[in-house]
Amino acid sequence: MKANCWMGINRVEVREVDDPKILNRRDAVVRVTSTAICGSDLHLYDGYVPTMEKGDILGHEFMGEVVEVGSGVDNLREGDRVVVPFPIACGACLMCEKGLYAACENSNPNAGMAEKLFGHPSAGIFGYSHLTGGYAGGQAEYVRVPFADVGPLKIESDLTDEQVLFLSDILPTGYMGAEFCDIKPGDVIAVWGAGPVGLFAMVSAHLLGASQVIAIDRFDYRLEMAREKAGAETINYDQVDVNEALKDMTGGRGPDACIDAVGLEAHHGFAPIHAYDRVKQAARMETERAHALRQAITCCRNGGIVSVIGVYGGMVDKFPMGAVVNRGLTIKAGQCHVHRYMRPLLERIEKGEIDPTFVITHRLPLAEAAHGYQIFKKKQEDCVKVVLSA
Ligand SMILES: [Zn+2]
Ligand SMILES: [Zn+2]
Repeated sequence: MKANCWMGINRVEVREVDDPKILNRRDAVVRVTSTAICGSDLHLYDGYVPTMEKGDILGHEFMGEVVEVGSGVDNLREGDRVVVPFPIACGACLMCEKGLYAACENSNPNAGMAEKLFGHPSAGIFGYSHLTGGYAGGQAEYVRVPFADVGPLKIESDLTDEQVLFLSDILPTGYMGAEFCDIKPGDVIAVWGAGPVGLFAMVSAHLLGASQVIAIDRFDYRLEMAREKAGAETINYDQVDVNEALKDMTGGRGPDACIDAVGLEAHHGFAPIHAYDRVKQAARMETERAHALRQAITCCRNGGIVSVIGVYGGMVDKFPMGAVVNRGLTIKAGQCHVHRYMRPLLERIEKGEIDPTFVITHRLPLAEAAHGYQIFKKKQEDCVKVVLSA
């Protein structure tokens, strides 16, 4: 089959690879019909996530048709149409029982590696380095889905792939980011990053009752999408001082909650600290450039919540802990426990409360994946979200 493989920093290539096989009773094989490139795939592309190996198949946002099931999978049959959540979860360990699927204790065969870096192991994730299990991803014609009796969501209505594909990651991730904010009537929510996850966090904040949503980015085409499709007011951080602008918009107090939907490759205009981060990150002495997170913390109102759904992989320098403690902030963070959000969000899509298709700017065949990565990374052609059809 054909699959999009990581071939080194800034290099992906669609290559001929072996077809996946059923390895365990609870596996299924899915023929991928649609898959997407995620902002977090760019961290792999850019070489900031360790333990990638040449030839690793990328992709953790995908859906398709079940073509084979293991003997232990009772709830799926050949021909079923499914969306697959990006974290791999056994459904039976203590974390899964608590609904913390992205912390599953049984899905990462390289748990020891993750334990060394994070203190405790993390769950397996499709197509996302050997640290998260070394699983082949879904930017391919076929993919093996472990614990297929737990993860995949059957789509039985006639919704299109594009309407439901983002249930695999970015819609639940954005929603969880807004849910973290414990939104009360009258609340103002600020979102750093008007990419796909940030946009869905904005839409979700409105659904959960926010009175005002403010998007912070530097790309005008993305801020325009935030205004027009996500009902946000916008701040271009290249043009104004973000903290001052947020104070002006919130009676001097700051937003009730701040969402970091940027993660480890934040860009910003304040030269000295950015240069410091760039140098340390380039030398791999610091793994993150955490400017969005630092700013979300310093801008948040006293006693507010900072919700972190952007991806981080290692250590952050110059972390403003004084602001967190002295102003009583709460930080909530996590990889999304996608499994528990898929069904309720599917119902919202079916009812027409959310139409996730608005983020799609590019539709390409799988064979053109490398072009998709490039325009997405370089923000060319006003790229927001690339969907690949296999
Ligand atoms: Zn993703
Ligand atoms: Zn589990």
